Amino acid sequence: MDEREAREKLVKACRAMNARGVNQGAAGNISLRFGSGMLITPSGVDYDELTPKMILVQSLDAEEPAREGKIKASSEWRFHRDILRARPDVNAVVHTHAPYATVMAMLRRPIPASHYMIAAFGGDTIACTDYAPFGTQELSDLAVKGLENRLGVLLGSHGMIAVGPDLNRAMGLAGELETLAKLHYLAGLAGGPALLDSDHVAWLVQKFAGYGPGAKG
Ligand code: 13P
Ligand code: ZN
Repeated sequence: MDEREAREKLVKACRAMNARGVNQGAAGNISLRFGSGMLITPSGVDYDELTPKMILVQSLDAEEPAREGKIKASSEWRFHRDILRARPDVNAVVHTHAPYATVMAMLRRPIPASHYMIAAFGGDTIACTDYAPFGTQELSDLAVKGLENRLGVLLGSHGMIAVGPDLNRAMGLAGELETLAKLHYLAGLAGGPALLDSDHVAWLVQKFAGYGPGAKG
């Protein structure tokens, strides 16, 4: 994928996350590994006004957010940088304030194995981190830890992050995480869901590795 195409994909993904109801307003941000760095959405720009030119190139060694005139990289550039550094299996990072995922994050509750689709995230729970203010190194450290061996995490009193080997997968998982949070929350209101046992989820995780076009098994 060339840089122009990658920038266009990021803009489309931002609009799609709002259109699909997994985010709202200028909240949320997305990055995509590009060469030895990343392409990242700008801070505070309304997605209807976002253009491919406004996407920033940021080094994974950077200690300051990238800038182009008045446009600055997302305030969450630290966790995008740190996740891409820590996870060679991840090439795209999607952060949203999806409503049900955020409700779970506000309740500070991890999502357990109440639905089999949790296996798509690599294990039998999706962690919920403690609270740390947006844009901080503390939040980034919590996010990287919460994502260990997983493709999704809830950020306490804030929102969620979904990651994947490419942007389509990360976007799909962001939608899936919001669905899991919604179903789990609603089942909780109706008396509490049954939980799948962890051996079974481990088996499902293996099944998922062989699921879908291009999979080996
Ligand atoms: P940015 O507009 O700076 O990307 O911030 C939005 C957000 O969700 C902060 O956590
Ligand atoms: Zn946020």
